[in-house]
Amino acid sequence: MIFKEILIRYGELSTKGRNKNDFIRRLRENIRYSFTDIWPLKIRAERDRMFIEIENDEKYEVLMQRLPEVFGIQSFSPVAACEKDIDAMKQLAIDIMAQYGDEPLTFKVEVRRTDKHFPYDTYMIQRELGGAVLTNHQNISVQVKKPDVELRVEVRYDAIYMMGQIIPGAAGMPVGSNGKSLLMLSGGIDSPVAGYLMMKRGVRVEAIHFYSPPYTSEHSLQKVKDLTNELTKFGAKIRLHVIPFTEIQVLIKDRVPENMTMTVTRRMMLRIADKVREEVGALAIVTGESLGQVASQTLESLTAINAVTATPILRPLIAMDKLDIIQIAERINTYETSVQPYEDCCTIFTPARPKTRPKAEKVAYFESFTEFDELIERAVKNREMHMLPEKKAIVDKFADLL
Ligand code: ATP
Ligand code: MG
Repeated sequence: MIFKEILIRYGELSTKGRNKNDFIRRLRENIRYSFTDIWPLKIRAERDRMFIEIENDEKYEVLMQRLPEVFGIQSFSPVAACEKDIDAMKQLAIDIMAQYGDEPLTFKVEVRRTDKHFPYDTYMIQRELGGAVLTNHQNISVQVKKPDVELRVEVRYDAIYMMGQIIPGAAGMPVGSNGKSLLMLSGGIDSPVAGYLMMKRGVRVEAIHFYSPPYTSEHSLQKVKDLTNELTKFGAKIRLHVIPFTEIQVLIKDRVPENMTMTVTRRMMLRIADKVREEVGALAIVTGESLGQVASQTLESLTAINAVTATPILRPLIAMDKLDIIQIAERINTYETSVQPYEDCCTIFTPARPKTRPKAEKVAYFESFTEFDELIERAVKNREMHMLPEKKAIVDKFADLL
């Protein structure tokens, strides 16, 4: 292994001192979370970059594979090092360039001399290393403007550092650096994407799901757990709250005019979500709503639904087109799970002609004949909680022994 460490450049970062420290601390914690399987890692954090030591090939492979998913990283580069000796430098340059294979390739040498006393100046280093690489690799030629590879050479006080690649990171902010929200997670395409986007902004999420057995099956619940699990890959464990919703849904169908059942259902969901939010100390609620997608997502509907709480409702998809949402879902690997055909509690109770312009007062009037408060309390109290990822690997291991 010629690489000694991976240099990490921080993503979008406020310049304010305390936030910066918090950002760095969170990033470090999240890296620890993402790489528990190859922990311990030696991490050295500086004010504007971080270094992870590469101890062996296996750790290197895993780091290169998963670092692009960690939020808060703008880009990263594997860095090689050698002593401050021109022959050692030439050999290292040749070795690094050998990593790119035999296809035709253009390159140039970029030099940064922190140690101004090093006897070779920038021009001499470029010439010596450039010459050595060209003689040893017939497929490589020099190009100054837009080369395929920019071989960066840093002459520091302790040693020479070289890197050939700048790999884009996931950008965003480390999960947890922007507080916590409660994500309303259905089994659909949109809400996991909404959760992902908020996590990318540094928000830690807990998830809440409403299910209505026996109208919805174990499969649909498993689907939601799978989606939650997929989201945990982006830097944090997620607690999933599963709310038994059958009683309330049946009652709504019974007591409320059909064209308003959907609005009432959504209002009840939001009231329950808000109570759970308060219990877990989250500051906002996140949904996958997108304007105009379905009857419940007109501005009038959103207003009537929203009227039950003053808690901020974050809707990161509100202005996005479905195709763009699908593209993200595919990229983050939730799409396949989302399109599995298991019913969700809303599809089953969806009225044929829901009102697209419900009025909050009118909806509230029809709600007022039923004692929903108690049912809401009960649903909150009887919820199941799952911390994901589940320790499935461990369970499987024991299963082998039985
Ligand atoms: P999604 O693809 O996320 O299901 P959708 O386009 O199907 O969204 P709706 O079914 O109207 O739209 O749901 C809008 C939002 O309400 C969802 O994005 C989600 O945040 C929330 N929601 C809907 N059903 C549930 C549920 N069963 N449990 C938790 N949240 C839900
Ligand atoms: Mg849905």
